[in-house]
Amino acid sequence: MKKLVLATNNKGKIVELKKLLGGLPFEVTSLQDYPEIPEISETGSTFKENALIKARAAAQYTGHLALADDSGLQVDALDGAPGIYSSRFAGPEKDDAANNKKLLNLMKGVPVEKRKARFRCAVAVVGGDGLLQGVEGVCEGRIAFEPRGEMGFGYDPIFIVEGFQGLTMAELGPEVKNRISHRAKAFGKAISILKNY
Ligand code: IMP
Repeated sequence: MKKLVLATNNKGKIVELKKLLGGLPFEVTSLQDYPEIPEISETGSTFKENALIKARAAAQYTGHLALADDSGLQVDALDGAPGIYSSRFAGPEKDDAANNKKLLNLMKGVPVEKRKARFRCAVAVVGGDGLLQGVEGVCEGRIAFEPRGEMGFGYDPIFIVEGFQGLTMAELGPEVKNRISHRAKAFGKAISILKNY
């Protein structure tokens, strides 16, 4: 069976992605199976660039088909921040609660109609032959005035999803999230690419 390398070391992500890609005719591996590969630095300025950098490096080092994703939150009133810096917005500790608090503070006094935001996820697939394909998924919404809900992670408690009666992503829960999220949309497209490989 052909190998597909997930260009990540994040154990949670590996489990989630292996489940998502389980039906495909690939032996799914990850950077954990190639400890000799040096750390890949994400030097891009967009989600797309960072996904591509990671997938390309993994394909080059292993000679196999590789897939990488990169995602985050873009807030219009903050000129697209936190963007590619989403995980470490409030510091290198990657603390979700601190990130949410910082974002809500920056949004203090911003009226509801100017709180538009979106989650964005880029997925890059690079073949052992260097051929690359990139896809994106977007989930529109707006920033809440205070955190609500216990499910999910990251910015979910302060992200009100468009079209869901004012509920935050953390209130909607995994079943709905896995249908409508930026990641679900991007991986839906990525799976079509992989099926044609
Ligand atoms: P990654 O590129 O998937 O590792 O995501 C980077 C950061 O974006 C995460 O650490 C979160 O802060 C934020 N993020 C990405 N996807 C989501 C999501 O589905 N919900 C909430 N926050 C997210």
